[in-house]
Amino acid sequence: MTGMQAGAGTAQSAVTYANLWQDGRWLRNATVQIDAGGKVAGVSASTPAAGAAIPGLTVPGIVNAHCHAFQRALGAWTQRAAGSHDDFWSWREAMYALAGRLQRDDLEAITARCYLELLRGGYTSVAEFLYLHRLGDRRALDADEAIALAARRTGMRLTLLPTLYQHSDFGGAPPRPGQLPFVRDTTQFLEDWRELGRRYPAGGAVALGVAFHSLRAVDIDTIGRVHAALQGDALCRCVHIHVAEQPAEVTGCQRQHGLPPVALLASRGLLSPKWALVHATHASEAELTQVRAAQATVVLCPTTEADLGDGCPVIAPFLEAGGRMAIGSDSNIGRSSIDELRQLEWSQRLARGRRNVFSVANEPAVADRLLRITHAGGQHAIGAAGGADFVTYDAQAGDWELQASADYLGSLVFDSAAPRARAVLIGGRWVMRDGTHPEEVEIESRYRETIGRLRRDIQSGQQHE
Ligand SMILES: [Zn+2]
Repeated sequence: MTGMQAGAGTAQSAVTYANLWQDGRWLRNATVQIDAGGKVAGVSASTPAAGAAIPGLTVPGIVNAHCHAFQRALGAWTQRAAGSHDDFWSWREAMYALAGRLQRDDLEAITARCYLELLRGGYTSVAEFLYLHRLGDRRALDADEAIALAARRTGMRLTLLPTLYQHSDFGGAPPRPGQLPFVRDTTQFLEDWRELGRRYPAGGAVALGVAFHSLRAVDIDTIGRVHAALQGDALCRCVHIHVAEQPAEVTGCQRQHGLPPVALLASRGLLSPKWALVHATHASEAELTQVRAAQATVVLCPTTEADLGDGCPVIAPFLEAGGRMAIGSDSNIGRSSIDELRQLEWSQRLARGRRNVFSVANEPAVADRLLRITHAGGQHAIGAAGGADFVTYDAQAGDWELQASADYLGSLVFDSAAPRARAVLIGGRWVMRDGTHPEEVEIESRYRETIGRLRRDIQSGQQHE
């Protein structure tokens, strides 16, 4: 899939890892053979020369199946109550204030820093759910270009999901002023999508899918029309939508259509293996059965869902029955795949009053099971198999070396303070070695300048309101 990224080093034909996790087992001194296309050609045991193997724990790079990079700026600005009742809907007002101020260079600077952090957090591929469409007075597709540039600079694989957004609520309610930077009519959206197809053809650095913001923001008939227009296009790898994140969305959908959100999509024949349903927090058991039957993917974003007070889905039975699940960083309050897996299990423990909720009889180690499920589910959610994509955590990432190998991942996920990947290989090229990225100084300084300026702008805007 996504080919040569500017941030990546020279192509490797083989890399030897001291400890490589493969399908729930640790291989010692495993040499990964890499073909000319950056895919894994084979894995074999070897006896490397002293110092030739990459030390530490190496696991497959995870797909971040749901990301809004611009929201990276918001985390610190939304941690004091907006009023006597603070929830998802009040958080959204802060997000609108930021979205309305961003210019193209701001978006690129924030995204590059975000993607660099996501690489350190064990992700090698991002699905960018891009509903922020208009940046200041600049022309259309600036936002898409800014995201693609940031991905190229960092070396992150990118699946761009241009996102249709038209209304403020069910029944075609007109957009509110804060939503105007997101809005496009259907004709313009399809023209823009086809232009992106010309800029990012198959096999290039950027893969394409399509997203519908939500059933609140896009009428179900329009979703059907746009889906029909794009589903035969080989460039369109996947279809994503936010669904059932909040109880108010479920009751609004029931009121308008007589069905909850997932059931409504299913009733229109819209669920298929290409679909990824983001959150599904308040989907019923019957709806999750419909998702599983369609072989669609549920994308959970555990740290964002915790930060926004969304709720905690009943997801373990869905997984036991063979349902597909991916993880995403969503608002980027968390930037680590390890943190998402830990939060996923811990939220379930709090809600169910049990431990090791995701454990099953033949796969008792929760961290290993969640890594296996989310690795496969992430690739499914973006319709791409990935390549020679590996991340390595070294001895600074916790006390895993003191444990039996069966507990290495459990130690890394549940017993380590903020582990960060030190080596990242994407498509057989080094994107990061020894904890450093070739662009990190420039990326860091642009991010700092951008955040400082935006914070002053937003604070002075609030004082004048
Ligand atoms: Zn989202």
